[in-house]
Amino acid sequence: MLEVNNLTVHYGVIEAIRDVSFEVRQGEIVSLIGANGAGKTTILQTISGLNKPSNGSIYFKQKNIRSIAPKKIVKSGISHVPEGRHVFSGLTVKENLEMGAFLRKDKEGVKKDMATVFERFPVLEERVAQDAATLSGGEQQMLAMGRALVSQPKLLLLDEPSMGLAPLFIREIFSIIEDINQNGTTILLVEQNAKVALEISNRGYVLETGKIVTSGTGEKLLESDEVQKAYLGG
Ligand code: ATP
Repeated sequence: MLEVNNLTVHYGVIEAIRDVSFEVRQGEIVSLIGANGAGKTTILQTISGLNKPSNGSIYFKQKNIRSIAPKKIVKSGISHVPEGRHVFSGLTVKENLEMGAFLRKDKEGVKKDMATVFERFPVLEERVAQDAATLSGGEQQMLAMGRALVSQPKLLLLDEPSMGLAPLFIREIFSIIEDINQNGTTILLVEQNAKVALEISNRGYVLETGKIVTSGTGEKLLESDEVQKAYLGG
């Protein structure tokens, strides 16, 4: 479904990503794990069209989406939940969800998908008229995910969904991610919390200073000495 080949991204003279290749197949949950500054966020932003690569290709459903406008990328079926959530403060929960549907014209379909979001995240329905800025961190994460789902993505990019959340909330968010995947959305997940990410992933890639150093099934990576030592304190 997604094929990234030899991707290189620079910020000025800084090379953030070097020659990175990986793929995400339809129906999978795939994780990119790695320490602070490894380049995980840069990869997601480049897939979404927010960063321009200096080299490489990004194929989504057999079409090269490298350097096309972010809006067109959303329209093609990729939705991005950025690090730190970025809900719109000053807008209510409902208005935030409506922003996720801004490219859709089928009002009835949008209504139906909003109802599905409320089923999945009942707390959002309880707070539907509340300013998004007043939600807790976990609730904002749910809102950001709900907003992305309303755009009907085929591929959902999630950047550090566990960040800043209490362990109980992390479990909840990750079980919702699994549920979203089982309902047909393919997921590319970026996480510093390697354990929770790999536990729900079909496959994973380990990034170190802009390069992929290891890859394998979630299970295999969880057991590998390298990952145990570097990321799991084992
Ligand atoms: P984190 O989990 O801390 O966000 P990350 O793995 O997502 O880390 P990136 O944010 O992609 O890493 O950063 C990769 C490298 O690119 C880092 O060295 C970072 O300092 C650099 N970088 C990121 N954004 C910019 C920017 N806008 N300008 C210059 N350098 C940047």
